[in-house]
Amino acid sequence: MNIPPNLPNARPESHLFYQTRQRRPLLAEARDVYMWNVEGKRYLDGSSGAMVSNIGHSHPHVLAAMRAQMEKSTFGYRLHFETDPSERLAAKTAALMPEGMEKVFFVSGGSEAVESALKLARQYALAIGQDSRWKVISRRPSYHGCTLGALAITGYAPLTDPFAPMMQAMPKIPAPRAYLDGLDPEDPATGAHYAAMLEAEIIAQGPETVLAFIVEPIGGASTGALVPPEGYMQAVRDICTRHGVLLIHDEVMCGGGRTGRFLGADHWGVVPDIIAISKGFGAGYAPLGAMVAQDRIVGPVLDGGGFLHGYTYAGNPLACAAGLAVLSVIEAEGLVGNAARIGALLKSRLEALMEPFPFIGDVRGKGLLLAFELVADRQTMAPLPAAMNAYVDLVELAYAEGLIIYSRRTRDGREGDHFLICPPMTATEAHV
Ligand code: PLP
Repeated sequence: MNIPPNLPNARPESHLFYQTRQRRPLLAEARDVYMWNVEGKRYLDGSSGAMVSNIGHSHPHVLAAMRAQMEKSTFGYRLHFETDPSERLAAKTAALMPEGMEKVFFVSGGSEAVESALKLARQYALAIGQDSRWKVISRRPSYHGCTLGALAITGYAPLTDPFAPMMQAMPKIPAPRAYLDGLDPEDPATGAHYAAMLEAEIIAQGPETVLAFIVEPIGGASTGALVPPEGYMQAVRDICTRHGVLLIHDEVMCGGGRTGRFLGADHWGVVPDIIAISKGFGAGYAPLGAMVAQDRIVGPVLDGGGFLHGYTYAGNPLACAAGLAVLSVIEAEGLVGNAARIGALLKSRLEALMEPFPFIGDVRGKGLLLAFELVADRQTMAPLPAAMNAYVDLVELAYAEGLIIYSRRTRDGREGDHFLICPPMTATEAHV
């Protein structure tokens, strides 16, 4: 495939590095769903960065709130001061959570939220005298973060294998990808089928050794907006309860309103024991995330000597002021409803592309957490040949055209290439 040149502006060799040597143009400014590079080229942020900029860029209300907070204080170390923005954001966050999820622990990102959830779970088990519980079951594929604890429960070999000797191996069960297994996701038997894999794994491991099960209610980058089959979320909750296993929802990507409900799990009314959120919570205005837990989990830990965990930047007042403003924009502008409405329109347009393009194997997701998957054959769902590198080609072609989309190649087993189409929740029909 002939990829149009997409060269970054000529710049001297950088001292900065991320994952690769790839260079990107310098960002000049960003407003709502658009971003401009320093040469004036405009991009439609069709993936909200990495599903982060949920309320669009440079929202004046958030900027004003951050400016106002900056004039008062930008840091107060948690062991010396509590701050008004962190108190108010904790209260507001708890009010958005399911009944009983009332304790909020701030962090600076998704990996930190997940690490915090794992460590709270372990300390809870110790506090109630269940020292033998330490295994955390997760799904394959899945992505829960890049730090070694979060990586140990990530089901994605290309990212985890190099670090395997440095991590505790944790059990994995298959993600419920009914569309690949030829099962009907609307049939409750399908949800029961995949949930039974969790119960079998808990029993195989020995329930007394299993600490928690972690699941993204609606999948993010690893599964490409996978919506669980009918009955799955409820069945998983019941299984965890039955075996005394804590249920952790990783809402880092699907939380924050983009799926058409504030939390991904709100679509099924399932209440976990611990929730991790980030991305859309700070919406790109500040590094922000949170772990939210039931008081019955936090209480024994705090009473039993304290939570042995905390980040220096946790509860930063500037980040919390940004988070508060983000939540009030979401509320005032009815963005959760807009995500549902515009998401349904965008999904129907993507589905319409399946007719002329037989290599689109699946379109899935909820609200504005949407993805399509490319396959070699829609009947067998066989993936594109590895050599095709479709995930790079398509992302680069779109980028050259001024459209940002997000892709992940999932190379474990029989997997294809999927592309996330997740514009900010402020998107309109014209942007679709
Ligand atoms: N959990 C999920 C579901 C994610 O999608 C991500 C990031 O993509 C993370 C955790 C890690 O978040 P962060 O990159 O902010 O550390």
